[in-house]
Amino acid sequence: MKSPEKAGPRPEDLLQRDSKIRFLCRPGLSCFTTCCRDVNIFLTPYDILRMKSRLDIPSDEFLDKYTKTLIPPEGKIPVIQLKMREEDMRCPFVTDGGCTIYEDRPWACRMYPLDWVGVEGGYFFLVGEDRCKGRGEPNEWTLLEWLKAQGVGPYEEMDLKFQMVTRYPRLAEAGIQDPRVQHMFRMACYDLDTFRRFVFETRFLEVFEVEKEMLEQIKTEETALLELAFRWIRFGLVCGDVLPIREEVAESKRKAMEKEPDSRKDE
Ligand code: SF4
Ligand code: SF4
Repeated sequence: MKSPEKAGPRPEDLLQRDSKIRFLCRPGLSCFTTCCRDVNIFLTPYDILRMKSRLDIPSDEFLDKYTKTLIPPEGKIPVIQLKMREEDMRCPFVTDGGCTIYEDRPWACRMYPLDWVGVEGGYFFLVGEDRCKGRGEPNEWTLLEWLKAQGVGPYEEMDLKFQMVTRYPRLAEAGIQDPRVQHMFRMACYDLDTFRRFVFETRFLEVFEVEKEMLEQIKTEETALLELAFRWIRFGLVCGDVLPIREEVAESKRKAMEKEPDSRKDE
């Protein structure tokens, strides 16, 4: 995800979580921060939550300032890419001393120089020792130890929840064709502060039956709010039962539908 030269791995290069690797990224290496330049980094919803919170700015400001939205022709499901600085193509968060948002850096940056073909399929090195001098360092880890040290756990956890939206067959096959729905998807998944206003400042909570416990959580926990956003998108795009509509709203809809034939009769 972080590297433009990404290519599929050979089966013999695949690593599992108990595989031993030698690697350490550190200041002083001749390649230090060179991999934070001219790279394609696609941000997950949880990446954006972490980064905008770290910078203490609202999500819409973060998206405007640091990212661009792409609508891939296949699937047409919006994706968010981190914008490199125009003047030198470096990441907006890199300095000669390293990453200024290190504790909240995106998932792809945590994984680099490794990538994966799915947790079950295995991991592989994207670049060799010539490009990434950290691969020549003596520090030995199991892959699992290294992943833990990179703090990827919550990223994998939130991504599994996101995949329940994007990998649902109907969405994965048909994509999102309607630009208005693309806009809603982008807002809910990536622009969390706008989604929060949508929940608390519109009729959202009058229409949807949100469990008491979750209602309390979304007031203070952004991950809970993001999970609600995923459920709402699944409700709209995939299947209606993941976020129930309140009985009184459903009843008034039923009545309106029953009335419809009568009103046509009167015309
Ligand atoms: S190329 Fe490898 S060792 Fe060098 S800065 Fe990037 S991740 Fe670290
Ligand atoms: S977010 Fe940090 S680690 Fe990732 S490319 Fe930018 S400076 Fe490098």
